[in-house]
Amino acid sequence: MIFNLRNIGKYLLHVLLPRTCAHCKEDLHYLDAAPLCPPCRGSLEPITGLCCRKCGIPLGSGGEYCHLCRGQKSGRLTIELVRSAFTFNPELKSLIHAFKYRGRKDLAEPLGLDMALAYDRRPELKDYKFTLAVPLFTGKERERGFNQSELLARVLARERKLFLLEGAVERVRNTPSQTGLSKAGRRENMKEAFRVSKPELVKGRRILIIDDVATTLATADELARALAEAGARDVAVFTLAREP
Ligand SMILES: [Zn+2]
Ligand SMILES: [Zn+2]
Repeated sequence: MIFNLRNIGKYLLHVLLPRTCAHCKEDLHYLDAAPLCPPCRGSLEPITGLCCRKCGIPLGSGGEYCHLCRGQKSGRLTIELVRSAFTFNPELKSLIHAFKYRGRKDLAEPLGLDMALAYDRRPELKDYKFTLAVPLFTGKERERGFNQSELLARVLARERKLFLLEGAVERVRNTPSQTGLSKAGRRENMKEAFRVSKPELVKGRRILIIDDVATTLATADELARALAEAGARDVAVFTLAREP
């Protein structure tokens, strides 16, 4: 171990303010900048295997489509396809919680790099050269200080040379929390939540929406519908986490 001044400084800071794993709360080594301890980090589950061609849900037993998408391939979603980097397991949930609600804006960089690696595993995403983040309602973004999806989109766009369409869409309604709502309720809740403010940026283009977590896809699909109405050629979604 090199005992330089910077490391001594880090050690002293660690004694005063010990950093703990965002999931299990174990003490982290004072030189470790990672938010998770090594065992928790090792518990993250990248989605590498078979997944539904349409909605991207991992398929344990093979086949092309999940039971929801089978037989209604065109009707269920406006979104062309959905892909995600990781399964939304408890360790990732803690990590995303630290990122969004505990001011760990710096986590956008490592999480965005993880997304870039996952992007390489899904060649079907390569045709989408234009990307944008799911916008937050202005008040919410002000409260949090940043839009987590936009930070992720920025890292991915930089790493994989995609065009980031900033300010193309806005959230015009402050939708109540989706938690506790049924699928139909979530869809209703999201209706007309988005407005494409610069249609010239999306017209005729294949667009990749970036979000942190995909759950029922009600939010992303409503955004995809707004983009399609504004003339987008087709819309895919890429998220950090996928909740089954
Ligand atoms: Zn841990
Ligand atoms: Zn599916």
